[in-house]
Amino acid sequence: MVDLILRSSIQDFQKKVINWEKESGISYPWRTTPNHWHALVAEIMLQRTRAEQMLTPYIEFTERFDTPEAFLQGSTDNIFDSLGLKWREQTLRELANSLAGRNIPDTRPELLKLPGVGDYVASAYLSAHVKKREFIIDSNVVRLYGRYWGFETNPETRRKKWLSELASELTPQKEFVEYNYGLIDFTKAVCKIRPKHHQCPVKNNCNFAQRLS
Ligand code: SF4
Repeated sequence: MVDLILRSSIQDFQKKVINWEKESGISYPWRTTPNHWHALVAEIMLQRTRAEQMLTPYIEFTERFDTPEAFLQGSTDNIFDSLGLKWREQTLRELANSLAGRNIPDTRPELLKLPGVGDYVASAYLSAHVKKREFIIDSNVVRLYGRYWGFETNPETRRKKWLSELASELTPQKEFVEYNYGLIDFTKAVCKIRPKHHQCPVKNNCNFAQRLS
């Protein structure tokens, strides 16, 4: 797949996604926090939850629990009720237990040993907060890549090795934080299930859009 895509096409796509993010991306507090515990908690809270829904619980959580130890000693008093996902508190307690008294790991294998941390959370955390070049894949990213590069997708596509290779190739060496946030924000705002082609900066080279014209 990667061999079929010209390097100039990749660079053009990367640049446009990054520029879109710089102009239209959203600045959520967990994206800029210097507190790695808060950043990791946010990535876990964001699983299957809309970012807007998470704002208030996240702010309440971070104001009360600066460290895993503080969380283990404190009470969450309905913070999680507003997310409708009480089970998440249990996951975070298991995470806090395993992190108490030590630093958060900064490698994928070690992160994946932590409760609640899967491939996506590890990639998102390492990319945005440890500044390691990591690619991210979720169902929205699969949809965008499939439409833009012109391949069929299904629920299994995200687990395919060739897709990981493509996603890795598409993730730039520099500005990968902006690129990854660009993918997240752009697929929520423009290349949605019902895409807004007229607002899209990559439409001139998009396979899906070309098939419509
Ligand atoms: S042109 Fe449409 S389908 Fe293609 S990337 Fe843009 S929004 Fe998505």
